Amino acid sequence: MIDFQGVLTSINETASNEKDKGKIADYIPELAKVDVDNFGIHLIDIQQNIFSAGKSDEKFSIQSISKVLSLSMALGLIGEKVWKRVDVEPSGDPFNHLSLLELENGIPRNPLINPGAIVIADILVSRLENPKEEFLAFVRNIANDDTIDYDVDVAKSEKRTGFRNFAAANLLKSYGNLNNDVDVVLDFYFHQCSLSMSCAQLTNTFYMFMNHGKCRRNNTFLTVTQVKRINAIMLTCGFYDEAGEFAFEVGLPGKSGVGGGIVAFLPNKFCVATWSPGLNPKGNSKLGMLALEKLTTETELSIF
Ligand code: GLN
Repeated sequence: MIDFQGVLTSINETASNEKDKGKIADYIPELAKVDVDNFGIHLIDIQQNIFSAGKSDEKFSIQSISKVLSLSMALGLIGEKVWKRVDVEPSGDPFNHLSLLELENGIPRNPLINPGAIVIADILVSRLENPKEEFLAFVRNIANDDTIDYDVDVAKSEKRTGFRNFAAANLLKSYGNLNNDVDVVLDFYFHQCSLSMSCAQLTNTFYMFMNHGKCRRNNTFLTVTQVKRINAIMLTCGFYDEAGEFAFEVGLPGKSGVGGGIVAFLPNKFCVATWSPGLNPKGNSKLGMLALEKLTTETELSIF
């Protein structure tokens, strides 16, 4: 039996003693208010035993982690047609990059970079009557947790400063790959990114990705094939231009967000989430990556 609790406790100690905790994302002003010293980690294994250390119950802005959830909902609604509008290749570029979009005639390289997630948001806006409400209900249902909510201040803050996302959405529109109004799609996108969740809530939500599409209550949200596809995209594209480094150091599929959260999992074994708001130069949580490297090294559990 692996001593998950012992490993998490030691990771939390190492993180607290680390001097250089990275840099908080301040291009969304509301995120800059968070204390860089926060650290939390939470793990659930396939038998639903839970382990945690640090501030694992404190909520933070999940940001790009939400892109996996919007993709899951879109796949459920329109199935494989999603891939006509967004590709599945790693970009090797930062999350907010626009150049590839120009090169590839408005088809974003994958659904986890911003332009790809904006196309997915457009699909949801087209398909849902009340997109924000229905997406929130979808996430709450997976997690079995009605306390999960948007942080409207974060959404508003990003709306005021999200010029690059406005540029991406306009570029998509110019190529005919955005069917709804730029403002309407981005309002949805900024809200999905503002979802506020703790490490514990993130592992409850992402449990289904390590469990063949079934959530903790055993309800099916995704088919086995859909989970295979989404997990492959997380492995190859979940960390932008650091996806290779994450696979090399950690060896798990997962997803990061500029709020400092990372969620990762080993299929059939465990799902883990970390939160440390300081980012490395590639926009991934600096201590979160170190923590997960330590976890997979010390437990000798990775997909490889
Ligand atoms: N909402 C953020 C943005 O669009 C998400 C980025 C991220 O978490 N990498 O810039």
